[in-house]
Amino acid sequence: MSEGQGRHFLQIPGPSPVPDRILRAIGQQVIDHRGPEFKKLGQNVLEGIRTIFKTSGPVVIYPSSGTGAWEAAIVNTLSPGDKVLMIETGHFATLWQQMAKRWGLDVDFVPGDWRHGADPKLIEARLAEDRQHSIKAVMVVHNETSTGVTSRIADIRKAMQKANHPALLMVDTISSLGSVDYRHDEWQVDVTVSCSQKGLMLPPGLGFTAISEKALAASKTNRMPRSYWDWSEMLKPNANGFFPYTPATNLLFGLREAIAMLLDEGLDQVFQRHERLAAATRAAVRAWGLEILCQSPAEYSPVLTAVMMPAGHDADRFRQIVLKKYNMSLGAGLTKLAGTVFRIGHLGECNELVLCGTLAGVEMGLSAAGVPHRAGGVAAAMADLGANDAEPSSGLKAAAG
Ligand code: PLP
Repeated sequence: MSEGQGRHFLQIPGPSPVPDRILRAIGQQVIDHRGPEFKKLGQNVLEGIRTIFKTSGPVVIYPSSGTGAWEAAIVNTLSPGDKVLMIETGHFATLWQQMAKRWGLDVDFVPGDWRHGADPKLIEARLAEDRQHSIKAVMVVHNETSTGVTSRIADIRKAMQKANHPALLMVDTISSLGSVDYRHDEWQVDVTVSCSQKGLMLPPGLGFTAISEKALAASKTNRMPRSYWDWSEMLKPNANGFFPYTPATNLLFGLREAIAMLLDEGLDQVFQRHERLAAATRAAVRAWGLEILCQSPAEYSPVLTAVMMPAGHDADRFRQIVLKKYNMSLGAGLTKLAGTVFRIGHLGECNELVLCGTLAGVEMGLSAAGVPHRAGGVAAAMADLGANDAEPSSGLKAAAG
């Protein structure tokens, strides 16, 4: 077994592997982005993507990575010097906070231990203290990809209501959209930020912002300079399915297919599949005797599991061994967690057998790297998958019959 033989296992928490159906959709001749065929494509994806965000409002699609969509959320709604509340859930919350500071926002960045999500009670208390309503936005990462911790957005919205505070709620769903239940309208989120290369199973290159009426109203009066990211420039041509500049046409072909795939399976089924695979992964980690980074079961991520390395063992060396021997990429520990955790992605086009292969690679890699652990993680995951399988085995029934 060596690198280059067999299929590569891309088990990082995004970009996730692109299904053949989407690859085929992308692999078409480019079309005139001002012509009638594009109009149909544009209308189809601009309408379809709303069902994924669960919103009836506009979703702006940029040719960008997720970081671009972060910037769009900030520059379209806030003004220099505005106070915002952010929570240090991990690496990505920290980066968004750095961007907010660069845009001249006054960030109240509540420290966190990178093992828990954003605490609704803490947010409620912070907002209740702010009697002048000087906090203009609460900005939270839904699924913190660096830690495998999912914050409870519905509870955060309730906390904001309890504090009776008018701040905008902005949520980064970059690694949760299309994998974890998310409801832009029902949870009254004002700006939801996302991108293409995780739960939507597309290559990197599309950024999204879903926009509430309140956020749209804020964009009419806020004072942040912008041009490329300006929602109003986008929304005008979007009304007819077009874009103000050359769109990422072939990624939009892929997006049309991705939306169809998610709706064919059913969003609830997609979310349940992610939950099932995540639970089986945790069963494996526990059986190995290793520690899961996330400390709060209510916040376990359905998308990825971050695993702590036993003291004295380097997670990056382990990942290199897994890549070389078994042709599998696992996620690295980021910044504060470099070398001390590795991350197993179980999102997008992932099923029971892909997961078992992934976990087998981890288990063999732990042995190859001399990392102390107990055997039997894959068996524990298989038992968990069986235990959670609601359907009676048709094979057994047929054999019995
Ligand atoms: N936010 C989260 C939660 C992420 O996982 C990522 C990337 O992995 C980003 C933001 C940045 O997105 P991008 O790398 O597409 O710019």
